[in-house]
Amino acid sequence: DREEPNHFGAGPAQLPTPVLQQAAKDLVNYKGIGLGIGEISHRSGDATEVIESTKANLRKLLNVPETHEVFFMQGGGTTGFSSLATNLVAAHVGKTGSAGTAGYLVTGSWSAKALEEAQRLGIESEMLFNAKDYNNGKFGAIPPESAWAEKLKAKDYSYVYLCENETVHGVEWPQLPKALVDSGIEIVADLSSDILSRAIDVSQYGVIMAGAQKNIGLAGLTLYIIKKSILQDISAASLDQLRQLGVPITPIAFEYPTVVKNNSAYNTIPIFTLHIVDLVLRHVLEKGGLAAQEEENDAKSQLLYNVLDKHSDFYKIPVSKDCRSRMNVVFTLKKEGFDKKFLDEAAKRNLTGLKGHRSVGGFRASLYNAVSLDSTKKLVQFVDEFATQNA
Ligand code: PMP
Repeated sequence: DREEPNHFGAGPAQLPTPVLQQAAKDLVNYKGIGLGIGEISHRSGDATEVIESTKANLRKLLNVPETHEVFFMQGGGTTGFSSLATNLVAAHVGKTGSAGTAGYLVTGSWSAKALEEAQRLGIESEMLFNAKDYNNGKFGAIPPESAWAEKLKAKDYSYVYLCENETVHGVEWPQLPKALVDSGIEIVADLSSDILSRAIDVSQYGVIMAGAQKNIGLAGLTLYIIKKSILQDISAASLDQLRQLGVPITPIAFEYPTVVKNNSAYNTIPIFTLHIVDLVLRHVLEKGGLAAQEEENDAKSQLLYNVLDKHSDFYKIPVSKDCRSRMNVVFTLKKEGFDKKFLDEAAKRNLTGLKGHRSVGGFRASLYNAVSLDSTKKLVQFVDEFATQNA
């Protein structure tokens, strides 16, 4: 048991206490079988049931259409964007016979890293825009579509990558860019820090990738939702064809059609970690699904942004209003020398995990699904009082 935390860490993040309590029991003795869920074969009936249940609950929550497949893989966001690059270029080869160019919309450090990785792998790729160029050299804004949408027509793009919520910089796409949706180019999106935070239209995405350790579970597992036609296109590309075109071959454990054909158990899937994801999904369903979750998340982030805006002489939010993240609220103090005091006094009220990312400084309050409205209100009250007392 534990006292309810008020933990605003960016990830690994707080999880619902009832989920952890159930998981703790299941780790020791799953369904009374005398073995823990992590001790059984990943191909056993019980393990298969966990995989099927997690898939079904995810489909239900996100309203995943029949055109898309759900699967899980070891790894995290980084394995996600590496494997996306090689799989999606293979798909383009399978579909068109050529590798094309991968386009990246860079709105913060995670999309920047994803592009860097595609380039490191030797994949023909380019930045469609760097948001820094439109915001005085800093991340914190998303340029208008008019600044870059024309480029989509200029080349044979294999896919366009974006990070829906930039965890470090607190920048979130309010919705998918219309020009990109209309272009018909496959959209590949990193939803590591905003998956299940709101309802989305899955049919608009070619692939969704999300590391589990924020809204859906523990580190070590990544979930994918992929258009079935993309799986067919990957399978259609032969190894010889890829070698001739100089396209990197995906390591077998990360080759999407192979993983899907084996129901996410081509190699040993961390079934305890997946079981926790399933428990989290069931918890969200019980709470009223994504509509209820979205409403709560909107309320939480609005409360916090409102109090920061109220004290705009004291706090600074380095993100434009139109792309402020609902999941990671980033802010700094205008006065120097008060950062430590802020964190110390927050800790005294049991408000933890507020230190900003080392590359940005300041503070970051992550308001993931498991952070309650009540915890958020405690933080809001503290932010308000701290400004009044130290102005
Ligand atoms: N993408 C996003 C949006 C992230 O927030 C993170 C991690 N915080 C990653 C990718 C990388 O995830 P991992 O550490 O699991 O590789």
